[in-house]
Amino acid sequence: MNSKPDVAVGIIGAGFAGLVAALRLKKSGRNSFLIFERAAEIGGTWRDNVYPGCACDIASPLYSFADEPNPDWSRLYSNQPEILAYLKEVVAKRGLNRHIRFNSDIVEASFLQEQGYWQVTDRQGTTTTAGVLLLGLGPLNRPFIPDFKAFNDFRGTSFHSSQWDTTYNYKGKRVAVIGTGASAIQIVPAIAPEVAQLTVLQRTPAWITPRYYHAISSLIQKTYHRFPFLQKVVREFIYWSNEFIGLGFIGSKLVNKTISRLSLRKLRKEVKDPDVRRKLTPDYTLGCKRILRSDDYYPSFNRPHVKLVTDSIERFTERGILTADGTEHLLDAIIFATGFVAADINLYTRIMGLQGRSLVDEWQQNGAEAFMGTTISGYPNLGFLLGPNTGLGHNSVVHMMESQMNYLMLYLEYLESRGSGSFLDVKPVVQDAYNRRLQKQFKGTVWTSGCKSWYFNKEGKNTTLYPRLPSTFRKKTRSFNPAHYQLHLPSIHSSSTHPAVFTSR
Ligand code: NAP
Repeated sequence: MNSKPDVAVGIIGAGFAGLVAALRLKKSGRNSFLIFERAAEIGGTWRDNVYPGCACDIASPLYSFADEPNPDWSRLYSNQPEILAYLKEVVAKRGLNRHIRFNSDIVEASFLQEQGYWQVTDRQGTTTTAGVLLLGLGPLNRPFIPDFKAFNDFRGTSFHSSQWDTTYNYKGKRVAVIGTGASAIQIVPAIAPEVAQLTVLQRTPAWITPRYYHAISSLIQKTYHRFPFLQKVVREFIYWSNEFIGLGFIGSKLVNKTISRLSLRKLRKEVKDPDVRRKLTPDYTLGCKRILRSDDYYPSFNRPHVKLVTDSIERFTERGILTADGTEHLLDAIIFATGFVAADINLYTRIMGLQGRSLVDEWQQNGAEAFMGTTISGYPNLGFLLGPNTGLGHNSVVHMMESQMNYLMLYLEYLESRGSGSFLDVKPVVQDAYNRRLQKQFKGTVWTSGCKSWYFNKEGKNTTLYPRLPSTFRKKTRSFNPAHYQLHLPSIHSSSTHPAVFTSR
């Protein structure tokens, strides 16, 4: 029995990924799509992360939708409120609001094989059907808080960086930040001038490069308004400069050495105390963990009330944190800048595919895998934006999502040409071969140089990063080969003939 779904395309999540998808559908003239957003507002990570200093470490002319340049960025690296405002502006301008169902937390998505489409169910039990389902769930929204000993003994305030308590007044307080990753290095300089004492608990020092966090003058903004192609040139320049850094990740020792030197010179210049400098010096290959960009993190340690602690955390106490050297650090608040659970892609939504297969269960058992990080065998008519192995450590993930959408638009075109009720399932052999090749490509990259990071799952497999450059991914996603898929037609069960490869125009 074949009936029509409520919408042609369902999208879960109205963060950057979901919006990339919606904009592309709209641009192609498709209007039958609906975004399910669990919150009352769009923005994903840029709505949720409101910690002081929250900003993007990828320059804004690049960290934006390709078709929606913003000539009014006030800084080269925009802060969270400005990015969120930009997203809202694009949504309003492109009439996407009417395609969003807010407060719709999808708890389950099931593929209805008979009908050849998806059914999603939200927390209130409302069901909606969609011909194709696109997941824009976001890889970094499951806060990770380590299981510290005597965790509950601490009597002060504590919260995770991504769940910042905006009612908490940290001015004049004794605050500790645990972690020294991308979030911490933004929080530390932002709160340092106002707290009475800041204790930064570092386990591994990060590689930090210059950020050039400067304001964009009104003259430049006006120039971008008048000559939009100039902003495009800047965008390209930033993109290719980042790709240059990426060369160091995938094997160029010369590039890596050059950037490492630049970073160490910056450290020498910006931190006065030689002992603190020594503690801040990374002892692993640059890029193995995410490279950070900051102009004000290192100088924070020149402030007398900012202390860098490298002794490991023994346990929490009523009054603070006890470190392995026997010191009890007396605190009013503890901020966990300890990152996210990312590699064990444990989705909030239950995704049920063919024959009752459960994506979360399969990925928990075998590690997350997809074809091109986008389609998944056994889960037809499903596209995962920023799915497994599509993350980057040096360039804009919006570019990756847009590459995925290039591919998914060709997928969609092909699927539509086969008639309603048809569905496409990537062949297991194709997906396996892709992932075997992908894992081999990690050989010789900085990510196999021996550090520990959120890029790896429990089994030590890198399920998060793309092992090549995003420019390579862009090329690979320019065409869609139907032979990679099993086509199921409404009444017949499969088709053996495939037209030629679809290529983007
Ligand atoms: P993160 O990079 O995973 O950093 C977590 C930090 O917590 C690390 O320094 C880690 O130390 C430390 N840590 C974890 N467990 C610990 C323990 N038991 N004891 C002591 N320290 C512990 O997390 P994040 O800073 O939130 O960043 C996560 C990702 O979010 C980034 O890589 C980036 O992709 C994204 N992000 C982006 C931006 C941006 O500007 N675009 C900003 C913020 C975040 P070890 O290094 O020793 O594990």
